[in-house]
Order: sequence, then C-alpha cells, then structure tokens
Amino acid sequence: MKAMVLKSISQIENKPLILEDIEVPEPSNNQILVRINVCGICRTELDEIEGRLPPKLPIIPGHQIIGRVYEIGSSVKKFKKNDRVGIAWIYYTCGNCKFCKNGLENLCNNFIGTGHGVDGGYAEYIVINEDFAYSIPDVFSDIEAAPLLCAGAIGYRALKLTGMKDGDIIGLYGFGSSAHILFQVIRYLFPNSKIFVFTKRKGDLPSELAIKMGANWVGETGETPPEKLNCAIDTTPSSFPVREALRNLEKGGRLVMNLIRKEEMINNLDYTIHLWEEKEIKSVTNITRKDIKEFFEIAAKIPIKPEVKTFSLEEANEALLMLKYGKYRGSGVLLIR
Ligand SMILES: [Zn+2]
Ligand SMILES: [Zn+2]
Repeated sequence: MKAMVLKSISQIENKPLILEDIEVPEPSNNQILVRINVCGICRTELDEIEGRLPPKLPIIPGHQIIGRVYEIGSSVKKFKKNDRVGIAWIYYTCGNCKFCKNGLENLCNNFIGTGHGVDGGYAEYIVINEDFAYSIPDVFSDIEAAPLLCAGAIGYRALKLTGMKDGDIIGLYGFGSSAHILFQVIRYLFPNSKIFVFTKRKGDLPSELAIKMGANWVGETGETPPEKLNCAIDTTPSSFPVREALRNLEKGGRLVMNLIRKEEMINNLDYTIHLWEEKEIKSVTNITRKDIKEFFEIAAKIPIKPEVKTFSLEEANEALLMLKYGKYRGSGVLLIR
C-alpha cells in the first residue's frame, strides 16, 4: 500500500514525509482492516514531525480517518465488511488503570495515539480494535466527517470543560479547523450566547471565515473585546493568546487550552492581571470514546458543515506546510481513495 512515512524528526519545510510502498497490515482477532478513503490533517501532526511530540519512528501519521471495513478478525462483532467507519486519535486504552476505571480514559496511563504510537491514516489501510472505531452518520460525506474526528470531537471536549452555560460569552482564540467547527456546536447548544473570535491579524483568512460565519465580534489577539469573557478556548500554537484570554476573562472565568503542544513557553503571566479573581486555566488531553460518540450525535443534528480544503496523499508535506503558515482556512483533508 501507499503511505506517507516519517523516518526522522525534521522541520516540515524539509518535506520529511516520504511516499513509500509498504505491506498492508493484517487484522488480529479483534481488529478490523480499514481501507482508508480520506484522512484529516491536524496540527498535532506538525508537533510530531517537528519533534514537540515525538512519535515512534518510523511512523505513518494521521488520526482523522474515514474508510470502509475491508476485512474483519475472527472475533469481530460490531462491524461487517464494507461498513463505513471513523478512527480518531484514541487508538488504545488499557481499561484497567485508575483513569480508565473513572471515565477518564483520555488520561489512561497506557494511552496510544493513532499515528503517534502506532501507524495512522496517511496510508491506504489501517488496522484497529473494533472497540475503537465508530459508525459515521450518513448525513456526512467522507470529507465532511474526517475533521469532526479530532478537530470537532476534541473541540467538543474543550467546550464541555469550559463549563459554559447558555447566555455566557465565549472567546475563541484562533479560528482554524477546530474552532470553526466548535463555533457551530456553540451556536446550537447555546443559542443565547455571544461568540467573540480573536485571530492573529485583522483581515487574515481565519478572521474572514469568522465574519462569514456570523461571530458577534471579531478582533485581533491583543484587542480588548466589548465585554468580558465568561470562558475562552485557545487553539493556537503561541503563548500571547493565553495571556490575552486570561486578561479578558470575567471574574471566575475559565480558559481551556485545546492543543497538545505550544511552540513556545507561556511566560510573563502576571498574577493580578491574568489569574487573580479566581480565573482558571485548564488543558485538554486526548479524548474519550464517549466524547466522540456524543459529539457525532450533536454534529449530525446540526448538521455541522466544515469548510474543507482537500489535498492528495502525496501532497501531505505541502498541506502541513500550508497549515503551519495559515495558508488555507477551515480543515485540511487528504483524499486517499
Ligand atoms: Zn488531531
Ligand atoms: Zn488505562
């Protein structure tokens, strides 16, 4: 099968993903073999490739996978051949550690990420335990569904962690793949809330998209919005938006950081400006299967329409380079079949 393989950590500018022809994996008893149609592109792939979140090497990245079941292991019960399935970042959890037993499998001590600890979706096939694959509602095409698996579902987890209520004002710092999907979820779940969007520069692609989608206010990170924020979600790779979100929070407000790695240290936090008055800061780590299932139920009712830019599998390096420099808006998806 064709696959884009990473053999060593490198800046994406060096185009480190190499097209290779490798063996199709074989499913074990409880696994399904999935023939991949599309795979979404995520900023986490940049973190892996550039070494901020070093993967096992060599690795096939990619964790927003939509495909069809091609073969099943002897004990598989949930799926049959040709079923459409999705595969997300959560590839394996142990089920035995204290986190798994307390509904926090996202924090599992033995968590394995798809395309990080095992080969992922920048390829024509993948195997996975049937318990970690999901049926995808028919309302979504493959390219619409792929970005929902991580950008959408982890965004949804972040939203839950904010504790937001209808009528609250939420600030979104960064308006890329995750935030523009989250926007549609917030509008649906909290119709009386205002959404303020902060992007890097006035008139950039994310700000255009936020205006088009009807944000209540759109500004540049660094600007003070017309009202204080009850909560905020940060999806950016830099530290400035963290300080800014905290500064603009209402008393008792909470900032949730929805990303795996920052490209720099978060420095210059001033206790009085950024934390005093019971402001909180919380990260999002991984995702649970329950989050994904809940999210797809909501997403299908809306139904969410992600803005998608497509690339071929062979263009994975170029696609990630464009993501790094914000050269497309919405979600990137590799067309594999
Ligand atoms: Zn992701
Ligand atoms: Zn566990």
